[in-house]
Amino acid sequence: MDYFPVFLDLKNRLCLLVGGGEVATRKGRVLAKAGARLRIVAPEISAELRSLVAQNNGELHEREYHTGDLQGCVLAIAATDIEALNEKISADAQALNLPVNVVDTPALCTYITPAIIDRSPLVIAVSSGGEAPVLARLVRAKLETLIPASYGKLAQLASSWRDRVKARFDDGDSRRKFWEKILQGPAAELTFNGQQAAADELIARELAGDQTQLTQGEVYLVGGGPGDPELLTLRALRLMQQADVVLYDRLVSDGVMELVRRDAERIYVGKRRNEHAMQQENINQLLVDLAKEGKRVLRLKGGDPFIFGRGGEEIELLAQHNIPFQVVPGITAASGCAAYAGIPLTHRDYAQSVRFVTGHLKSDDTNLQWPELANPTQTLVFYMGLVGLKEICESLIAHGRAANTPVALIEKGTTQQQRVLVSDLTSIADVVAANDVHAPTLFIVGEVVQLHESLRWFTPQIKNA
Ligand code: SAH
Repeated sequence: MDYFPVFLDLKNRLCLLVGGGEVATRKGRVLAKAGARLRIVAPEISAELRSLVAQNNGELHEREYHTGDLQGCVLAIAATDIEALNEKISADAQALNLPVNVVDTPALCTYITPAIIDRSPLVIAVSSGGEAPVLARLVRAKLETLIPASYGKLAQLASSWRDRVKARFDDGDSRRKFWEKILQGPAAELTFNGQQAAADELIARELAGDQTQLTQGEVYLVGGGPGDPELLTLRALRLMQQADVVLYDRLVSDGVMELVRRDAERIYVGKRRNEHAMQQENINQLLVDLAKEGKRVLRLKGGDPFIFGRGGEEIELLAQHNIPFQVVPGITAASGCAAYAGIPLTHRDYAQSVRFVTGHLKSDDTNLQWPELANPTQTLVFYMGLVGLKEICESLIAHGRAANTPVALIEKGTTQQQRVLVSDLTSIADVVAANDVHAPTLFIVGEVVQLHESLRWFTPQIKNA
């Protein structure tokens, strides 16, 4: 280990910052965040640094550096682009045994500054020992995505309960187990979602000996997006990595499934058209049962759970049973397919609104308002429309939508098998018949489809036969 990591308490302590440009401003910002008083010396000083100094009772010296500037300081940073000056500051500081950092010049530093993930009071510092700062920053970016922004609130939660927990468990081992359960369970999720009172209540009950709440699991209803795993949200990814069991259906892509925690039990629950691996009522019940066993249950659905996803029905039963749950939106097929096909769903010149419509015409509860769908300034996106495609086109034309309205059928959108078939309302059914098309497909109707020709950008790696 080349460096010894420490966390310095700089509150109200004077720190010398020489330099007033962009780099100095970045350093000054972090020092101010840690509560330091800034003494800034430079012929020209940025507006942001000036306001930082004003806020924390610091000092501004608009002139060249003098050795005396180090007087009374606990730390020095040189952020100038004059080599000789940087060397002098470093030598002066070392003569006084003051820790000194010269930005981007490890040889002149007695300490280096890490990349920081700030979830105060939790702070994570990453360093490559000055060897590869970009690598340290990449590691930071990875951690930033994995650790929720509100993670620091967990530390506050733990600190506010610390004494009471200590009083309740006298041996360290039970205490550790208790905290592990709290910090990874429903109380933590409530805290992230800003439901502080509910989290406190949960802990209070557990401490009072009521095991039922904490041993109860929770359900995450998560949108897995249309296929490309990179379209997952950060929250989706985090919950996927902490689930004990996952219930998924056919629309969830393999790439997305690969990101679910390796040890999680996987339960396939359908649904192919006409082939329901599991009835909806059974899925609803299974979610309840698994959560009651204390599991963290991930209900992973294609696209967005609240768009043609029956997500509402699945959580109704959970709500009735008082099981904690959260809903994480996903990129719905319409947004994903449209983006990856280069078809803006609205456009000032072509479409002032967009409608997501079910194309599942055979269902008893489908009753489409065809006259409304004929409006030429509106983009229509049909989900589940492959089987009824011909009927959809004929009905639209019969109700007045122009027969030459451009349309696109997008097969396996956002995946490496994506295919886009463009035609018009009269001919698309024949085009589909002539090509070997497989579900899932999304059907887009409207003038915006014209833009596909000029705005297409996504090229799947795997060519279709
Ligand atoms: N909740 C999902 C939709 C479920 S309904 C969402 O928000 O996207 C299932 C329909 O979604 C399919 O019949 C198809 O029309 C559409 N779909 C889902 N993923 C798709 C994809 N990758 N490419 C094309 N269509 C898709």
